[in-house]
Amino acid sequence: MLSIASISVFNTLSTDFLLVKFDITPTQESVNDYTFNIYRSLSPEDTSMFFCIAHNITETQYEDHGVNLMRFDTNYYYKVRANNVNTGESVMSNCYGHLYHTEPDNLAFIMLYENQRLLELINNDPVSVLLKRRLGVRCSNCWDSVRKQARLADCPVCYGTGVVGGYSAAISIRIGYLTPFPGQQMGINTDRVSVEEAPVTAWTTNYPILQPDDVIVDSTHNYRFEIDDMRPIYKNQKMLIRQTFTMHRVPATDVIFTLPV
Ligand SMILES: [Zn+2]
Repeated sequence: MLSIASISVFNTLSTDFLLVKFDITPTQESVNDYTFNIYRSLSPEDTSMFFCIAHNITETQYEDHGVNLMRFDTNYYYKVRANNVNTGESVMSNCYGHLYHTEPDNLAFIMLYENQRLLELINNDPVSVLLKRRLGVRCSNCWDSVRKQARLADCPVCYGTGVVGGYSAAISIRIGYLTPFPGQQMGINTDRVSVEEAPVTAWTTNYPILQPDDVIVDSTHNYRFEIDDMRPIYKNQKMLIRQTFTMHRVPATDVIFTLPV
């Protein structure tokens, strides 16, 4: 049975939602056998006070729009229940995630606002983010239940992820580049990705939270990138104000180019 290792709660610039994100204890089990319920309480002590706010989600992050962050005297606590879809077993997390905001963190809000404004001033064309599905319905076309992985890297059902659909719907964001943009270096042929092409480092604000293997689509240049890593910058440890990430361009022949945007 899979268990929840930790739950994190992130404030965003919005005053009406919190981002709840959880990590799973490393396991040999396939996370595709699981769905998750999210519970919220105003108090961490009494387990009976945790009310289910989302059923059977298949991602490891959830936007809770049922909060009011204008009320600074209210704290929110979250637990996660893991449900095994094959056996019907389910287990509530021992840990909980929480967001304290007894005093408004105006400085963090200002820093986040300034980052967003800076991206507007830089004024790069918006790009789309496609978050890789890490949980969900296994691919009926190519899932190898022995090796616990997708058999087809270019599968039209799961795009090589092993999970039906492969990626989330596109989310439009603005990013800023910290390294030269591909094609501006050394006259690289833009149709092919040269093996020497350096990875690109870029940054964005706090949403969505990026992870390795998520995809960035630059429709202006018809480039698609895979994220290699992300380094978060927090204010007061809880408020994510900036993400710096490294990504590499994928060749136009890659299955990632067939993802709908
Ligand atoms: Zn597949």
